[in-house]
Order: sequence, then C-alpha cells, then structure tokens
Amino acid sequence: MKQENPALFIIFGGSGDLAHRKLYPALFNLYRNNYINKKFAVIGTARRDWSDDFFRDTVKESLKKFCEDEKMVQEFSSHFYYQSHDVNDSQHYITLKKLAQSLNDKYELEENRVYYMAIAPSLFGTVAGHIKSENLITDNGFNRLVIEKPFGHDFKSAKKLNDEISQTFDEEQIYRIDHYLGKEMVQNIPVLRFNNPVFNTIWNKDYISNVQITLAESLGVEERGGYYDGAGALRDMVQNHVMQILAQLTMEKPEEFTSQKVHQSKKELFASLKMLSSDEVDKNFVRGQYGVNLNQTQISYREGPNINPESQTETYVAGKIMFDNDTFRGVPFYVRTGKRLPEKSTRIDIVFKKDIKNIFTSLNESEIKENIFSIIIEPDQGYELLMNGTKVGMDFATDTFSMNFKRSAKELDKVPEAYERLMVNILDGDHTNFTHWDELSSTWKYIDVIRQKWDEEKEDFPNYRSGTFGPKKADDLLARDGNQWVFRG
Ligand code: NAD
Repeated sequence: MKQENPALFIIFGGSGDLAHRKLYPALFNLYRNNYINKKFAVIGTARRDWSDDFFRDTVKESLKKFCEDEKMVQEFSSHFYYQSHDVNDSQHYITLKKLAQSLNDKYELEENRVYYMAIAPSLFGTVAGHIKSENLITDNGFNRLVIEKPFGHDFKSAKKLNDEISQTFDEEQIYRIDHYLGKEMVQNIPVLRFNNPVFNTIWNKDYISNVQITLAESLGVEERGGYYDGAGALRDMVQNHVMQILAQLTMEKPEEFTSQKVHQSKKELFASLKMLSSDEVDKNFVRGQYGVNLNQTQISYREGPNINPESQTETYVAGKIMFDNDTFRGVPFYVRTGKRLPEKSTRIDIVFKKDIKNIFTSLNESEIKENIFSIIIEPDQGYELLMNGTKVGMDFATDTFSMNFKRSAKELDKVPEAYERLMVNILDGDHTNFTHWDELSSTWKYIDVIRQKWDEEKEDFPNYRSGTFGPKKADDLLARDGNQWVFRG
C-alpha cells in the first residue's frame, strides 16, 4: 500500500461546478488508489445552507458514473463535512477553524491543510486574507493554497492578486493550477525531448522550420457566456495553457528535473519572449469570433446566453510567437485556439527544415517534403512522423509515409485525469507542474500588449463560421512566411 499523505482539504466553493465535476472525482480516485485513505477529510464551504448529509449526497451523486461500489463511495463520502460560509464574514472562519481542528484530531491529519479556491476569482484575495487574520494556518503541518484560473485579467490585476495572497502564503505554498500541465502528453514532452538523443540534438533553430500548437474545441461557449464574454480566448487560453505548452517545448534542459530547476528554465525562457510593440500586433496576432454554421443550425457567439449582442470578445486567436534566444532565434511558433472549430483536438506539429541536397537525380526535388513530427495530446494520444521514402515498384519514385504511434483504448482507460495527478503533486509538495509567479508575470505582460491594441480597435465580427478552422487571416499569417497549418482536421 502507498504511504498515505494525511491532509484536510478545505474547498471554498464546495457546492460549485468545478468541485463536483473535477475535484470530488479526482479525490475519489486518489482514495481508490490509496493516495488518501483513512487520514483525510474534506470541508466544503459555500453560501448555501446545507447539512453534512445533504453535502455528502451531492458528492455521491458526482461519483455515480465513476463507481458502482456503493460501500466504497459511502465510506469515502463519510469524510466530507459542510460549512455554510460567506467569504466576507470573519465569524465563519472562526467556526471553520474549530471544525478544522476537530477533524484534524479525529482523522490524525498532522495539521496538514490544503486550501482550495474553487470560487470566483474576485474572492481569492478575501479568502486568503481571512485565512491569515482568523489564523487558520497551522504551526506544524503543511499549509498549501491551490488557486484556479483565471489568475488576474492582466498583469496589473494578477500582481494585485498575487500581492494579496502573498500576505498569507509564500510562493512555495502556492499551487497555481494550469490543468494542461496535468495532462499525460504535456508532462511527456520534457521526457521525450531530454531523454531521446534523436530529438534532443535537433530541437533547435538549425533543424526546426516552425512549430504549430493547436488547441481546438468543437463546442461553443454554451452556458459560460457570463464569464467568457469578459475574458475571451486570448486570456482564457493563450496566456496560460498555450504558454505553458510552449514552455514545455522550448525551455532549456534543466540541470535536473526538479521543481526549482524547471521553473528557473521557464523563467529564463519567458524572459526571452520577443515582446511585440503595439504596431506589430496586427502582423503577428489574429482574432476571430464564430458566427452561425453553414446550415444555420448553430447560433452565433453573439446570440448565446449572457453575451452582449455586439460583443467584441474573441472566440479564436492565432498568433506567431518568437524567442530572442540562441536556441530558437528566428523560429516562428504559431499558436491557435478557438471554439466551434470542426473537431476537438490538442496537438503540436513540429515542421523541420528541408535544407537537404538531393543526390538522387531521378527524384523530383519538389516532391520531397519536410519532416513533420506531431505530438497528439487529445482526444487521442500519440505521435506521428512524416518522412520521405520511395514508392513500391521499379521506377524509384518518391513517396511520403507516416510513422504512427497511438496509445490503445485500453491504455487510455488507465490515464489519470489531469486533476488527479495535480492533487497528488499537491499532497507530495511537488511544484513542477504548477505555474510560478515569474511565468505568469512575463506571460501577462506579453498578452497585455495584444489585448490593449485589440481593445482600441473594433473587429468586424463574426468573421468565421462555426464548424470551420477560424478566419482566413489565420491562414494568411502563416502564408506570409511561406508556411501553412499542418493540421486541417
Ligand atoms: P460555480 O459558480 O459553479 O461555484 C462557485 C462556488 O462559490 C459555489 O460553491 C458558491 O456557493 C461559492 N460562492 C460564491 N460566492 C460566495 C460567497 N460570497 N461566499 C462563499 N461562497 C461563495 O463556479 P465554478 O465553475 O465551480 O468555478 C470555481 C472556480 O474555478 C472559478 O474561479 C473558475 O474560474 C475556476 N474554474 C472552473 C472551471 C470549471 O470547469 N468549472 C474550470 C477552470 C477554472
């Protein structure tokens, strides 16, 4: 049996969507796999006036599709407690503290606490402040703050929030979630790069022509208009997930794969981001907003619930990001993310240079293609390598073929959810797969330039149909460099 890490989880926002859809199933799987077992308890806090029993019923409900073993679910949910809570009311934190102390004794939790912010971002600072003023921090165990996205909406607000939570928690106690860093294939990137000489040696500007990162969603904004219309794809996806995938692909090899060294590598990488001036934004970044689909069976973004009918919020972004460092100077990193694209797909396509001298006089040089290495992150998981060779037959003609590796459905079944991995990391005190403040501050500063420019100028939205790969301008962005998107569905 695995060594259990005793802990009390205090989930602020325990009645919410994130808690029920992601956190309770993740905790349950940790329980099922013995990462937590007897020595854990969960306090859910939220505004509503619920009893422990009612809360436990909602937790059981959230686990229904994951487990049929009722006894196990019953036992697991018996560790859950509820406290009706208003984040602004000091008295509620005093009650919470008493409950936390009694559960600590009951479950032998060694004063270890995880404070999980599953509430609206505007409340993060208030809660962190009360954790300090009402003295919920324990003297002996660990005290870790888990904070969800969005972490601010620009550099200034992110800094303000960071200053607020830093009054109570040190950087080493703060775990900023970027759930893309919990994904199997995203965690795999550094191992692939650094443990395989075939990749390690060619992962630079001498061999790579361009890199393309695609985070495509087939769904629209659906019911999340209230949040999304104030955010948009640039803030919701590029500043965090796209940038973190980019870092996995481009950070220099850390001396060792420890949290400290990895964050040092990422910090240096982001310091070398080639910042855009306001005048350069239009040449390097493109925004889009979805309209109806061809058959007009899907509504446009602006027609969605809680969305301004004249909204200027982008549901699509494509951009060209460059680094000013010795390894990748001159290599364009094209990124794109959008809603209502033809299919859900997260992938990376690395296009290698074609600067080879063709010694086969009978082969037509124009038929020789660039090598493309693709990392498929989801929904499938695998790799593809596009190579040149010959056609079967006597005439020695060129052909391209692809080497494919895909994880089997059986293997995919065993892949832990991103939140499960991250929860284990939090219990282990491993920061590697969380976002450091240095990374956030650099990426926000980069994004702010684009956002400010876009806020000054209206775009003629909608500019792409639902079910297509975004606005034409996104193709032009690559065409100007003589490139094109590899992935077209
Ligand atoms: P939600 O609206 O479903 O839940 C919010 C929770 O906060 C509820 O439990 C509510 O009772 C509680 N709450 C609200 N105001 C409160 C107050 N004044 N005092 C005490 N409790 C209060 O929201 P959600 O979708 O679960 O999102 C929670 C957080 O997670 C947000 O920061 C969101 O940006 C982030 N997030 C959510 C998802 C997701 O899939 N839902 C994904 C990524 C990030």
